[in-house]
Amino acid sequence: MERILIVEDNKSLSKIIAKKISQNEEFDVDVAHSLKEAEILVAKNKNYFLALLDLNLPDAPDGEVVDFMISKKVPSIVLTANVDSKTRDEILKKDVIDYVFKGNIDDVNYIFTLIERLSKNRNYKVMIVDDSMVIRKEVKRTLESQMFKVLSAAHGEEALGYLETNKDVKLILTDYNMPVVDGFELTKRVREDYSKVDLSIIAMTANDDPMVSAKFLKIGANDFINKPFTKEELVCRVNNAIESVEYIEMISDMANTDFLTGARNRRSFFKEAEAYVQEARERDEPFAIAMIDIDDFKKINDTYGHDGGDEAIKALVKVVQDNIKGSDIVARFGGEEFCVLLKDIDRDSAVELFVRLRLKIARNTIEFKGNEIGYTASIGVAFDSAESLDDIIDEADMALYRAKNSGKNRVEISE
Ligand code: GH3
Ligand code: MG
Ligand code: MG
Repeated sequence: MERILIVEDNKSLSKIIAKKISQNEEFDVDVAHSLKEAEILVAKNKNYFLALLDLNLPDAPDGEVVDFMISKKVPSIVLTANVDSKTRDEILKKDVIDYVFKGNIDDVNYIFTLIERLSKNRNYKVMIVDDSMVIRKEVKRTLESQMFKVLSAAHGEEALGYLETNKDVKLILTDYNMPVVDGFELTKRVREDYSKVDLSIIAMTANDDPMVSAKFLKIGANDFINKPFTKEELVCRVNNAIESVEYIEMISDMANTDFLTGARNRRSFFKEAEAYVQEARERDEPFAIAMIDIDDFKKINDTYGHDGGDEAIKALVKVVQDNIKGSDIVARFGGEEFCVLLKDIDRDSAVELFVRLRLKIARNTIEFKGNEIGYTASIGVAFDSAESLDDIIDEADMALYRAKNSGKNRVEISE
């Protein structure tokens, strides 16, 4: 739980903002209506995640509250009713994250997007690469104000070195002209190991040669920014780049996941299982694969409707997941048919696990519209005895077929 402090003398506005922020379970909110009250709260509470500050308070009419928060190292966002460029410049000269107009509700909504952005940024590592110490320091400070973890390197070779030990860097901001390894070379070398989706690169280029930015984009930069740039433009470009990476991760998660149950889908199962089987064989590691199918599932649909059937499917995945390790894989292959891969397990333990699982499924019931739905499932198990993953799954399927033909609600093992 993170604490956010709002300092705003307009009581209805501070109330609206506080209410909206506390809708997010991650955040707790304190409100002060004057500098004096803010000082008392900060003395009591040393670890504010963020403060939202009104520039014009009854006991602090000239933004004194901003200086106070900065002196206490509380990351701050300024709320202002003023839009003129003098006010804007004065605010941005101070070490604040951003400023927000409090003109109407859309402006206020921007605060919530911003808070969520900052909260996520804390998980990302970004790197600034420039041979100018002044730029390096300035950009580092700006990125840190956005709550990123920031690495800074004086040339491409140093950046590549840092990348060796920080493989989770999400974004690199690079200069072009640098000694030893320049921006082009750095971009090319990074792209040998990281795609545009895994690691975003923004080139910082001088305005005088448009070919430089074009070339950067051609060799794999995601974006460029012309020097000199404002702090605001930099922040927007960096956050945009990070957002694209997040969207792509989200889409790829969706493409690998079965919508109903949250288990993997067939395609994603094959992708991960193929890779695992190859590694397991190199290490001589035993594993087991099972096909599981709910018995007489049509009857559940007929009796309780499609929604009832859906709940039964979800419940089955939950029982399976509760009985396997986090590293094992369960995937929904079709309607009420599932494939499970148990990693690093000998035959006896695997059989024991599936026998126990069959019993747990049979004993499990779900509540649906005042009814208790119960069902059984049949399981076919195979081991690493065939050439390909496809063939192993076929064997598990044949074992499942035998289980169905010999009365259902049983586990059959492939010979
Ligand atoms: P068996 O015991 O031999 O496995 O018979 P069964 O009735 O369980 O299996 P069958 O394959 O004959 O029928 C499966 C049914 O599952 C047919 C289909 O309408 C239904 N189904 C497929 N996908 C879904 C789904 O996502 N939700 C629901 N509720 N039903 C589904
Ligand atoms: Mg340079
Ligand atoms: Mg079935």
